[in-house]
Amino acid sequence: MVIPAGNLWEETAAEAFDAPPLEGDLRVDIAIVGAGYTGCAAALAAADKGASVAVLEAETVGFGGSGRNVGLVNAGLWLPPDEVEGALGAGPGARLIEALGQGPETVFDLIERYQIRCEARRNGTLHCAHKPSAMRDLERRASQWQARGAPVEVLDAAAAQARVGSRAVHGALLDHRAGTIQPLAYVRGLARAAVSLGAQIFENTPVSGSRREGGQWVLETPNGRVSAARVLVATNAYHLPIPGMARAQTSLVHFFQAATDPLENTDILQGEEGCWDTALVMSSFRRDAAGRLIIGAMGLPERDGGLHLRWLQKKMTALFPDLGRQSLTGVWHGRIAMTRDHVPKLVRSGPGLYAIFGYSGRGIAPGTVMGLALGRGILSGDLSNAPLQAIETYGESFPKLRSAYYEAGARLMHLLP
Ligand SMILES: Cc1cc2nc3c(=O)[nH]c(=O)nc-3n(C[C@H](O)[C@H](O)[C@H](O)COP(=O)(O)OP(=O)(O)OC[C@H]3O[C@@H](n4cnc5c(N)ncnc54)[C@H](O)[C@@H]3O)c2cc1C
Repeated sequence: MVIPAGNLWEETAAEAFDAPPLEGDLRVDIAIVGAGYTGCAAALAAADKGASVAVLEAETVGFGGSGRNVGLVNAGLWLPPDEVEGALGAGPGARLIEALGQGPETVFDLIERYQIRCEARRNGTLHCAHKPSAMRDLERRASQWQARGAPVEVLDAAAAQARVGSRAVHGALLDHRAGTIQPLAYVRGLARAAVSLGAQIFENTPVSGSRREGGQWVLETPNGRVSAARVLVATNAYHLPIPGMARAQTSLVHFFQAATDPLENTDILQGEEGCWDTALVMSSFRRDAAGRLIIGAMGLPERDGGLHLRWLQKKMTALFPDLGRQSLTGVWHGRIAMTRDHVPKLVRSGPGLYAIFGYSGRGIAPGTVMGLALGRGILSGDLSNAPLQAIETYGESFPKLRSAYYEAGARLMHLLP
């Protein structure tokens, strides 16, 4: 099966963004490396405080995960809230959960305030049970969120099937806080908003070196340098090495998606909720504003002889048998940075120098929330109210081995009939 490569989000983004590379030297209050949700939200917040801001992006805005993801604007992290508190301790964990529980509100408020044209729908998301016994996990997650006053509900099989338009789901957790966006359009809109407040963004400007000089960080790029007392490295799974700067490693997981042509007269996801399932090697499905079905799964499709894509077709048929065999119009994939405990890390590796990474597959709202908080906090030098406490170092043993393990697991599951 040959499906042409192509990222749907690049074809359909209503927001455009274009910025020149850095030429010459610049001194700013805060320099930000990477123009995804984290970097652009940080630039927005710092510029809003009146700071001079330079964002240095190796490629173009949204080149990383922010321009490739499923577009599910979910609350919290992948881990249920009790487990986040278990990983971080009760106080810090509750603070992070509180901030990320409101994450979708923060995202949809920004979209409204800056009139970002990103197909925003706030109709909830559905975490779907792929087999009846998976309902136990969804009920556990629901009760943890309900104990914190969150508007989530468990749907039985009939209610979930009616919403999804599929008899292959066995119930779902409906989160009314959540919704969907066109992910690339959203990050471009954030970049536009940051520039409107005075931030400077430079595309095609990889940071290729760094050093300390006179109390400043000096970031080297091919045709210029930026000096700043404060730096945020927001490069996550797309990090390109920056000599002179320590970088913690994470494991990488590959996730790919493909889209159908727009569907007409269908009862699939009429409420436009975004969905993912409880399977260990999970898959996602949603529709876009034009009515295309977008289906995704773990795996790296380029070098597997069509295994993952054949599986994706089978999955689509299993979920929506009435659809018949749909041709898929494009396939694209992205990298997800996973930490050992699936909780993102904020590392302070020198004076005024911070890096944040490891959203572990849940980065639209967390990246936005953390970016805003870090833009303000790094600037003021006070991160005591940030949702996540900074640590001094972070390391993982055998990240490459773990990444290979995730990919082997996806292949194995996709080989099974
Ligand atoms: C396929 C996929 C599906 C996902 N689905 C969802 C979802 O539905 N919901 C959700 O909440 N999250 C999802 N995620 C996770 C989410 O997309 C990410 O967590 C989020 O985009 C991370 O944003 P970021 O700004 O931290 O990093 P990125 O968006 O990855 O941005 C990092 C940027 O840094 C740049 N960069 C790297 N090194 C350098 C350098 N040396 N110099 C200059 N620039 C550099 C890169 O070019 C890149 O543009 C998904 C991720 C993927 C890949």
